Amino acid sequence: MIQYGFLGLGIMGNAMAANLVRAGLQVMVWNRDPAKCAPLVALGARQGGSPRDVAAACDITFAMLADPAAAREVCFGPAGVLEGIAAGRGYIDMSTVDDVTASAIAGAVAERGGRFLEAPVSGTKKPAEDGTLVILAAGDRGLYDEAAPALDKMGKKRFYLGSVGQGARMKLVINAIMGGMMTALCEGVALGRKGGLDGADILEALDAGALANPLFRGKGPMLLQGEFPTSFPLKHMQKDLRLAVALGDELGQPLHSIAAVNEIFKQARAAGHGDADVAAVFQVIKQ
Ligand code: NAP
Repeated sequence: MIQYGFLGLGIMGNAMAANLVRAGLQVMVWNRDPAKCAPLVALGARQGGSPRDVAAACDITFAMLADPAAAREVCFGPAGVLEGIAAGRGYIDMSTVDDVTASAIAGAVAERGGRFLEAPVSGTKKPAEDGTLVILAAGDRGLYDEAAPALDKMGKKRFYLGSVGQGARMKLVINAIMGGMMTALCEGVALGRKGGLDGADILEALDAGALANPLFRGKGPMLLQGEFPTSFPLKHMQKDLRLAVALGDELGQPLHSIAAVNEIFKQARAAGHGDADVAAVFQVIKQ
């Protein structure tokens, strides 16, 4: 039976690993704060002592970490994945990072005889819980095929996008668009309310027309209630916008509006909303 590892049990990783365990797969988990392993162990997972131990014990190890710095730390750091990975073993990083980070990890894993796939996801906490994420994979095709049964426990649709870096790029394109949609919704609602419109009417009118979409439907009510329980931390959206702007620099693609959106999210982060949901950007927009 294939042994799976899972590194990083935050909002997303906890739900994704739980779906693997509930499906009856053999899973070993690790998290920097070990307390987050307890719910997975209660479900039937084993707990590993370090990324090195998990990568050494498992055929395929998944990771779901905060950002490029975390992805590098878990791979290259002391007792990291590189110290445990060996010939034929697979490492699948599902964190949202940039193409440079993904390529650096892929190269180091390959040097040790391991196989690497990047597989960032589209979808937030609820799709992670429901196993309905959209998986944006690129890298080792054999590993992609081998991991398919596990990927299908976490996602409803998956793409194989080619060489390492293409998954990261696809994810950044999606989140750059999402950041723009989020701020447009916030500015529209703030404008409408200052103009005497009822917030619920604005959302209902939007939802009745061509602009109806799950993002507005999910986040819109948060703006009206002024409460932002975290599904997607605002700090991670700002990280994705920062990485998208850097990709635009690298490729020579002007990103006038995305760069402006990044500044709004930076402001929201500086104002202390980083751990709140992405929709909390409304708090700085409505002022
Ligand atoms: P999260 O709740 O903040 O979890 C982050 C995870 O990274 C935690 O397990 C954390 O460990 C770990 N971590 C952070 N820095 C680390 C370090 N230096 N060394 C080791 N571990 C470290 O974030 P999340 O929402 O699950 O998101 C995870 C990734 O998925 C991010 O790249 C995010 O952009 C992406 N994503 C998120 C969503 C969403 O809606 N939430 C959707 C799609 C993609 P500790 O518990 O010890 O802090």
